[in-house]
Amino acid sequence: MSEPRFDVIGAEGPKAYFDALTPAQLAHAYLFTGPSGVGKKTFARRLAQSLLCLTPKTGVLGYDGSCSSCALFRGDGAHHPDFLEHEGVLKIGDRDVAVGFYESEELSARDLVRQLSLRSYSGGLRVLLLGDVNFATHEAANALLKFLEDPPRGVVMILTTATPGRLLPTIRSRTIDVHFSPLSKTQVREILSRMHYGHEDAELGASLSGGSVARALAALEGEEESLRGQVVRWFFESVAGKSPQDAWATRETLDEGLETIKTLVRDWIVSTASPRAESRGVGLLTVDHAEELRRLQPLDHHVAVALLGKLDEAQRLARTNVRPEFVADLVRMALTSTL
Ligand SMILES: [Zn+2]
Repeated sequence: MSEPRFDVIGAEGPKAYFDALTPAQLAHAYLFTGPSGVGKKTFARRLAQSLLCLTPKTGVLGYDGSCSSCALFRGDGAHHPDFLEHEGVLKIGDRDVAVGFYESEELSARDLVRQLSLRSYSGGLRVLLLGDVNFATHEAANALLKFLEDPPRGVVMILTTATPGRLLPTIRSRTIDVHFSPLSKTQVREILSRMHYGHEDAELGASLSGGSVARALAALEGEEESLRGQVVRWFFESVAGKSPQDAWATRETLDEGLETIKTLVRDWIVSTASPRAESRGVGLLTVDHAEELRRLQPLDHHVAVALLGKLDEAQRLARTNVRPEFVADLVRMALTSTL
């Protein structure tokens, strides 16, 4: 049997967080937040594999890749009976119809709660991953909330989302937030190489990725991801003192849009602080807009700090019920005030 390893690229923060835990310290529900395409679901699957791996270890992270449990995680889909994965919208489900987890395309929150009340197949933990979690109705969200209020023993639930502001505050308050940051260019390149992209494609994809593998793949397939494209255009028009349409700012897209703006502002600071920053090894995440950023007026240190503070504030507001257009307006004014 080989030594346990945890083979996930990037995610330093989450790795450090889980590395510091013993299995007994695991919570019953985690919320993985961060932009899309940075590896939240991949990390969650490897965490599940770690928790179900049969090789004893002292910590939480790590799997041998060779035991009979790990064998069920090989390939594209995981088929471990104690690992349930669902992506997207959860419906409420019909109280009287017993639909099993594997029998329906549309998982309902009630099916879920019913499944989680079952005993573990292997006598250990059961792990549930709800990727890009979203609820069709308030009732569906409330059914999950019931689980979180009174979790069955031995279940670890992992929710992932790029837009935590959309979740009920009561759900957020009962989950532990683990944040995923954008990947570095080198990490995206490594991931693309592992996906069998050639050296040149991996390099190009990494340059256009903005730290997201999903964006890198979209770029390599020749389609600029529309939200990011819209936000980037909005950003440069705002900085130029115009009042662009803020159609990108909706309840669904606000969080991710603000993350893109923050990346652009960080790169703006880096690229104007030293025009040759990149050659000194400071990688710009938004390399596809490096020229435009360089042409902007350099940001004074105080202005830069104030601007980042206002963006943090906007991200906090985005998680409340404040109208998305209002938050976009505040950001636009903050950007204009740097002129
Ligand atoms: Zn194993």
